[in-house]
Amino acid sequence: GGTVRFEDVRFSYDPDREILKGVSFEVPAGRTVAIVGPSGAGKSTISRLLFRFYDVNGGRILIDGQDIRELTQDSLRAAIGMVPQDTVLFNDTLAYNIRYGRAGASDEDVARAAELAQIDGFVRRTPKGYATEVGERGLKLSGGEKQRVAIARTILKDPPILILDEATSALDSHTEREIQDALERVSRGRTSLVIAHRLSTVVGADEIIVLDHGQIAERGTHVQLMARQ
Ligand code: ADP
Ligand code: ADP
Repeated sequence: GGTVRFEDVRFSYDPDREILKGVSFEVPAGRTVAIVGPSGAGKSTISRLLFRFYDVNGGRILIDGQDIRELTQDSLRAAIGMVPQDTVLFNDTLAYNIRYGRAGASDEDVARAAELAQIDGFVRRTPKGYATEVGERGLKLSGGEKQRVAIARTILKDPPILILDEATSALDSHTEREIQDALERVSRGRTSLVIAHRLSTVVGADEIIVLDHGQIAERGTHVQLMARQ
């Protein structure tokens, strides 16, 4: 399962300014849809609505045919994993930070998630696993490293639906490539909604939606969109 559907979704933070002006799209189970568009277009708002940080003012959002307003917060949170741009870390061990994805996960599972997210390159390996103090480096993990922690958390949580908010911050191109690869690995086989800032990073998406001023300006595959330019 895990089909996500937006039906004519309308939303305003303030009554006098509509942010989403009737947005409809579907992410079939296991597929990837990318939302691109200029800053302020409403991309992050879409992910906030899916998480029910806010409720729609019009239309509806469905997961497997069910209006998300009918789901409990617990089941909604279990269904959706989010890799945000800027991950908040606890000042504790890296293992603790990764285990936040699924309380009670075994050391082996935590280590495996760290490996898949490729954060084993910068933590000191100990016989017990990933015990390096985040505090040891202060909260000075780079943006790319923090994003890898978020990816590891999500691998551990193993949700059917993913929201990936690609970093805007200037990662160096090598790090960016590595993060891209890790994001692709984690999204494979899951329903993924990618909030992207550049068309070039979502070449493989099943559909790309170009959002502008709260409306869908264009949609299609990367090849289709490039052909229209
Ligand atoms: P994007 O992710 O495409 O950059 P957002 O969804 O973050 O765009 O924002 C869309 C619009 O909504 C912007 O004009 C932004 O200023 C406005 N906005 C975002 N969050 C809030 C908020 N909490 N209250 C009022 N306006 C907001
Ligand atoms: P719980 O309290 O049940 O652990 P949380 O609300 O803390 O639930 O988080 C549930 C999931 O949603 C976690 O994977 C967390 O990373 C993600 N999440 C919660 N709030 C945010 C947020 N503001 N930005 C990004 N991800 C979030």
